[in-house]
Amino acid sequence: MAGLVLDGKAYSRELEAELQERVAKLKRKSGDADPPILATILVGSDPASATYVRMKGNACRRVGMESLAVELPEQTTTAELLAQIDALNANPRVRGILLQHPVPSQIDERACFDRIALDKDVDGVTSLGFGRMALGEPAYGSATPAGIMRLLRHYQIEIQGREAVVVGRSPILGKPMAMMLLGANATVTICHSRTRNLPEIVRRAEILIGAVGRPEFIRADWIRDGAVVVDAGYHPGGVGDIELGPVIERCSAYTPVPGGVGPMTIATLIAQTVEAAERATR
Ligand code: NAP
Repeated sequence: MAGLVLDGKAYSRELEAELQERVAKLKRKSGDADPPILATILVGSDPASATYVRMKGNACRRVGMESLAVELPEQTTTAELLAQIDALNANPRVRGILLQHPVPSQIDERACFDRIALDKDVDGVTSLGFGRMALGEPAYGSATPAGIMRLLRHYQIEIQGREAVVVGRSPILGKPMAMMLLGANATVTICHSRTRNLPEIVRRAEILIGAVGRPEFIRADWIRDGAVVVDAGYHPGGVGDIELGPVIERCSAYTPVPGGVGPMTIATLIAQTVEAAERATR
């Protein structure tokens, strides 16, 4: 029997409907004059990044929020980007700030992420936010892994005590993913480019997270029967980081590509912005 589809597209629609109501309530409270704003910052003209930022802006409008799109040229310096972030931190109508990753190489991305005020770090990219999340303290988690956790919880996937393997250790995906699974009491292994015997380790996974950035890099025959298969990747041709086709019939659950993790990332970003707005007006 085919594995359960962890349908991020359908669930993100449900979440958006709920968020729409919460935004309407916030607007009523402020006399309709003050819809919460998510500020997005795009540096340079990478077409994929531009698409992601546009999709996030569209999602804001769907739930009744505003988005403020800051677009900066490719040659922007760290100091210039920091100044933009300072201005958004100081703008009381801006409830959340998203700096689209990656930024051009001359920019110190970490310094810029860390300049985002903690209460506006709705994409969970600051060092302090990561640290608080890892310690189990209240913080907005990095949107992609936080979206994956929401999806797993929605489908009541058991996490506690299970062997989870995360392939990838980037600051916005693999590492926070591992910490969130650990926080939910999984036994977690993190793999990366220097990992030896990757197929053997992947074979242990009861919950497998693919976050490598290479099309179908994780092969179907590495994956054990009954695994929960979560694929964060998306590549031209509609494939992810995991060779999914042969696994669908023998896994217990899987995220489709597209329509799994991607929509959950956006819905989580918006949900965390709404939460930030609610906290700010409490
Ligand atoms: P990244 O920064 O490029 O990180 C890739 C990770 O994979 C690194 O930790 C790297 O290890 C590891 N890796 C590379 N080659 C490997 C190998 N041969 N064996 C084992 N591990 C290897 O990518 P990312 O930003 O985390 O993104 C990962 C994937 O998720 C991409 O497909 C991306 O498109 C997708 N993504 C999706 C969303 C969404 O909203 N759906 C958001 C963000 C990313 P080292 O650390 O050793 O280099």
